[in-house]
Amino acid sequence: MLNERMVALGTQRSVIRELFEFGKMRAAEIGPENVFDFSIGNPSVPAPAEVNQTAMKLIQEMDPVLLHGYTSAQGDAGVRKMIADSINSRFGTSTRPEDLYVTVGAAAALCCCLNGLCNPGDEVIVFAPYFPEYKVFIEGAGATMTLIPADIEAFQIDFEKFEASINANTKAVIVNSPNNPCGAVYSEDTVKKLSSILEEKSAQFGHPIYLISDEPYREIVFDNTVVPYLPKYYKNTMVCYSWSKSLSLPGERLGYIVVPEEMEDHDLVYAAVAGAGRSLGYVNAPGLFQRVCAMCADLTADISVYETNRDILLKGLRDLGFHVVEPGGTFYMFPRTLDPDDVAFCEKAKEFNLLIVPGVGFGCPGHARISYCVQTEMIERSLDAFEKLAKCYR
Ligand code: PLP
Repeated sequence: MLNERMVALGTQRSVIRELFEFGKMRAAEIGPENVFDFSIGNPSVPAPAEVNQTAMKLIQEMDPVLLHGYTSAQGDAGVRKMIADSINSRFGTSTRPEDLYVTVGAAAALCCCLNGLCNPGDEVIVFAPYFPEYKVFIEGAGATMTLIPADIEAFQIDFEKFEASINANTKAVIVNSPNNPCGAVYSEDTVKKLSSILEEKSAQFGHPIYLISDEPYREIVFDNTVVPYLPKYYKNTMVCYSWSKSLSLPGERLGYIVVPEEMEDHDLVYAAVAGAGRSLGYVNAPGLFQRVCAMCADLTADISVYETNRDILLKGLRDLGFHVVEPGGTFYMFPRTLDPDDVAFCEKAKEFNLLIVPGVGFGCPGHARISYCVQTEMIERSLDAFEKLAKCYR
């Protein structure tokens, strides 16, 4: 008998993947220029030239046995030193190489943190709208997900509902700012309030409630928005970072976890993360790209196009009567759907070859996600299709 949960996970395609496949089929039928595929969050700009140059230099100049050999399970020591230096120079922290665990992307980072922390019966709080894989990762760690409904006016946190949901079983809270799918960035006020509630509730229940900060979009922000670095506000924060979006390297699978020195029982928590990495087989992230990412850690791809795309789309949609909370970052927008049934709305959108993702899968019905990591001219051409869609509801 197979593991039924795994069979189900491996069989069901996500709504996003379904749409992506539908888009490819439509493109073959009517031409790719007539399909407006806003389904998937794949960066649309290339990695900076330094990434390839660094990779080539390493291949040409480094001892190949060392370059392609195993590194430490938690990542090469020199790599962790370079990452720590980069974090410290940007955030004024004192991260040490022994606080870092290098992973295959943020997905593995999240799984290592959750598996390291959770026991059966534990609860992990998530705020809607949320990245749907969180549920899979949390349940994979033997815990259950508690979803806090969205604050749909500003996409910050509904603190009343949050406080009411914390109990003795609450082990951790996951936050994702800048947020997939809505683009919101938590303000410093939000972060301070979140931290003070976590301090208070940890004291009340007599154990730390960990904050897991999922930050693959940390650098993709607009209008000089500042993303607060959460360990500076709450010491029991684990940072999960990824170079998938900032360096446009999703296929290379590189990221890291920070377990800050200030964390209560730091060495035990770090050991739990490393133990989870070991038990999941997430040891020794790819060696060449560990080095490339660490050497390029202070760079980003040319992400300015995402702000251009946001501006065009935001204005276009608002002119058509859509209610949209302005995204402070990422390459996603999350307008309210003109039909309260977001699934029906997104089906209707397909009639105009507009591929957008229903909000219900992100825990926030009545909305749809638009991934605008696409060519700017495609966004300009798509406005006509959005207008035809909007007309159906007038
Ligand atoms: N967390 C969020 C919010 C994401 O949007 C993604 C990817 O889209 C991930 C985590 C996983 O990122 P990675 O490619 O680094 O595994």
